[in-house]
Amino acid sequence: MSNKKEKRILTGDRPTGKLHLGHYVGSLQNRVELQDEYNTFLIIADVQALTTNFDQPDKLSEDVRQVDRDYLAAGIDPEKTTIFVQSLVPEIAELTVFYSMIVTVNQLRHNPTIKSEAEQYGYKEMSYGFLGYPVSQAADITFCRANLVPVGEDQIPHIEQTRKIVRKFNNMYGEVFPEPEALISDFPRLMGLDGKNKMSKSLNNAIYLSDSRDEVAQKIMQAKTDPARIHKDDLGHPEVCTVYHYHKAFNLEESDEIAEKCRAGTIGCVACKKRLTEKLNAFLDPMRERRKKYLKNPELVDQILMEGTAKAREEAAETMKMVRKVMKIDYF
Ligand code: ATP
Ligand code: MG
Repeated sequence: MSNKKEKRILTGDRPTGKLHLGHYVGSLQNRVELQDEYNTFLIIADVQALTTNFDQPDKLSEDVRQVDRDYLAAGIDPEKTTIFVQSLVPEIAELTVFYSMIVTVNQLRHNPTIKSEAEQYGYKEMSYGFLGYPVSQAADITFCRANLVPVGEDQIPHIEQTRKIVRKFNNMYGEVFPEPEALISDFPRLMGLDGKNKMSKSLNNAIYLSDSRDEVAQKIMQAKTDPARIHKDDLGHPEVCTVYHYHKAFNLEESDEIAEKCRAGTIGCVACKKRLTEKLNAFLDPMRERRKKYLKNPELVDQILMEGTAKAREEAAETMKMVRKVMKIDYF
């Protein structure tokens, strides 16, 4: 099956909690849609999670399974997609070390995503592992010789860094890797419920794929709307409203009508939020249904991870053979 699909996708998530709607529209949706066409690898990046959560590794084992369940609930089919755990593919760490020779510290220091994340985490000084995680990410992407990387917009500098490494490696040692391209979705930065930041696991502003119907309803009721609208018939400005932003992402067919009525003051915020809640719950219901099977059979979740990891290691061994050959470090 996978042999027929020549082009490859690699992408994934840090196991730092539950996946949310931002993950879905930013990347997961593309993965589900493209898994028939591409040989798809999904990495659960536990080593990368350690770059910020090194002091609490005990959370990882539950979070790894949580992300796996979220993938499966969202429609990732383990028959078509290889889901694996980063730290269990040691070849990725090996490749990271080789790449670290051909990346400069200045390139890493100037990476805008690294800068803004360091600020978000309040780092006065960065660890070597945090500063260097784009190098490790280059190894994630290339260990399976991926062509395409579906990601949100914060990842663009990292993909650019990977392309630089690939070009330098191929030029210096010999052609091993294709130059991977980012696939940016129509919603590369879904806003959080606070209406200020991108929806993020770490900022407590997310609607999770695993939220219940009631949780979704409560969160939408609290979502920030146009501050100029106090009374139901005040004229609204949908372009500044988080709820309208979600209508565009999850209720596109009604979004023009809603914008018009909001501007004319003929739909109130409560009614608008109720419509969104219905839409979101209808969208999440099939995921809730699929999730039940995996909650009931946790051994299935583990089995999928173990089988996927074994497949990823086979691929990694093949790549490392080529790498060692062109680098002329295949001594014996
Ligand atoms: P953390 O707060 O732990 O960094 P996160 O919510 O930012 O978590 P990541 O695991 O860093 O999630 O990101 C995984 C993928 O999801 C990346 O491709 C990222 O660009 C994408 N993504 C994350 N949040 C959003 C969002 N709000 N909108 C669109 N894409 C997103
Ligand atoms: Mg992030």
